[in-house]
Amino acid sequence: MYDAIVVGAGPIGSYTAYRLAGLGYKVLVFERRPKVGDAACCTGIIGKECFTHFPIVNNGVLTQYSSAKFFSPSGKCLRLSKDSVQACVVDRPAFDRALAQKAQEEGAEYLFSARVEDISFRDNCVKATVECKGENRDFEGRMAVISSGFGASLPQRLGLGKISDFVLGAQAEVKVGDLKEVEVYFGQEIAPGFFGWLVPTSGGKALAGLLSRRSPGSYLKNLIASLLAQGKITSNETKIIYGGIPLSPLPKTYRERVVVVGDAAGQVKPTTGGGIYYGLLCADIAAEVIHDALRTDDFSAKRLARYEKGWKAKLSRELEIGYWARKTYERLGDRQIENIFDIIQANNIHESILQYPDFSFDWHGDSILRALKNEPLAKIFGR
Ligand SMILES: Cc1cc2nc3c(=O)[nH]c(=O)nc-3n(C[C@H](O)[C@H](O)[C@H](O)COP(=O)(O)OP(=O)(O)OC[C@H]3O[C@@H](n4cnc5c(N)ncnc54)[C@H](O)[C@@H]3O)c2cc1C
Repeated sequence: MYDAIVVGAGPIGSYTAYRLAGLGYKVLVFERRPKVGDAACCTGIIGKECFTHFPIVNNGVLTQYSSAKFFSPSGKCLRLSKDSVQACVVDRPAFDRALAQKAQEEGAEYLFSARVEDISFRDNCVKATVECKGENRDFEGRMAVISSGFGASLPQRLGLGKISDFVLGAQAEVKVGDLKEVEVYFGQEIAPGFFGWLVPTSGGKALAGLLSRRSPGSYLKNLIASLLAQGKITSNETKIIYGGIPLSPLPKTYRERVVVVGDAAGQVKPTTGGGIYYGLLCADIAAEVIHDALRTDDFSAKRLARYEKGWKAKLSRELEIGYWARKTYERLGDRQIENIFDIIQANNIHESILQYPDFSFDWHGDSILRALKNEPLAKIFGR
C-alpha cells in the first residue's frame, strides 16, 4: 500500500511526488511513456519568479530573456524591454527528467510504460488499474494525485467534470540567423484568436510555434514559410509536434482520496497558455493538503476541499481576467488588432506598464486592467 499514487510524470506530477516523498511518504508515480519528458510539446518559457519561488526547478536552462518583440498583423513592432532577466527558456525534456530524478532521490518510485486505466475506491484506499507492458496490474494507495496533463480522461470518469475550453498548439524546431529576442506574432491570418512565436533556444536554433483553435499545423507551416522569406529562419526542415492547452479549469479538482493538479486541472494562464508555474504553485498547495489528510487519516471530500479553496484563492482572479481578455481578443479583426498596437505605441502604454513595480511575467490581471484605463483601448475590448 502506497501513501500516494501519482498519475503522470510531467513536471507537476514529479514535483508533487518530490514534495510528498520529501515529507517521508511512500509514493509511486505512473508514467504511460517509457521515459520522462521526451514527448512534451512545450516552448519551455518560465518566468524568473518561478525559479525564485521553486529553486528546485532550476534545471535545463538554455537561455534567459529581458526583452521581447511583439508584431502586429501588418508587421508593426512593439519592443518590451526590462533591465533584468524576466524569463528563461528551459530544455523541457531535461527539465522534466531533472524533476523526476529529484523526486526519486527523495524516495519516490517510478513505473514507466504504465498507463493508469482506471481508479476505483475501496474502504481504506484507492485502487489504480494499470496497463503495464500488455498486462493489467492493480496498485493501492491511500491517496491518488491525477497529474496526467491535457486531455486527461480520468477526472471525468471520477465525476469531476470536463475542461470546457481549450486550444491546440503546434511547434517545430528551426534554425535561425542572428536572432536574439523572443518574437510574438499577432493576426487572425497568422494564428486565429491567438498568437505565434519564434523563441531562440541555443546553438543557432529556435522554436517556432503557434496556438489556434483549428488547423494549427497548417497555420504553422505558413508562419514558418513567412519567417523563411523574411530571413529570420534559415532552415525549412521541420518536424511539427502538437499539444493541447486547457483554457478553463476543471469544474471540480478533488473528491474523497483524489486531487487533480496541473494541466489536468486546467491550472494554466489563459493569456499565454503557460502552465508550468501555476501548476507548480497548485502542486505545493496539493502537497500540504495531502500531508494533512495522510497525517490525520482523513481523506474525505470535505477535508480535501481545502486544496481547491487554496488554489482558487491564489489563481481565480488571474484566470478570470485572463480568460475574459482572451475571449474578447479572439473576436477582434486584424484592423482592430492594428488599432490596439497604434494606441499602445502612441500612448506609450507598454512602457508605463513595465514601470509598475508589480509588473510580472506571470501575473497579467493587473496589467490588463491598467491598460484598459485607456479609453480607446477599453472601447475595443467592449468595456
Ligand atoms: C505548444 C505548447 C507550448 C507551451 N509552452 C509553454 C511554455 O513556454 N511555458 C509554460 O509554462 N507552459 C507551456 N506550455 C504548457 C505546458 O506544457 C504544460 O502546462 C505543462 O506540461 C503541464 O504539466 P503537467 O505535468 O500538468 O502535464 P504534462 O506535462 O502533460 O504531463 C502529464 C504526464 O502524464 C502522462 N500520462 C497521461 N495520462 C496518463 C495515464 N493515464 N497514466 C500514466 N501516465 C499518464 C503523460 O505521458 C505525461 O508525461 C505549452 C504547451 C503547448 C502545447
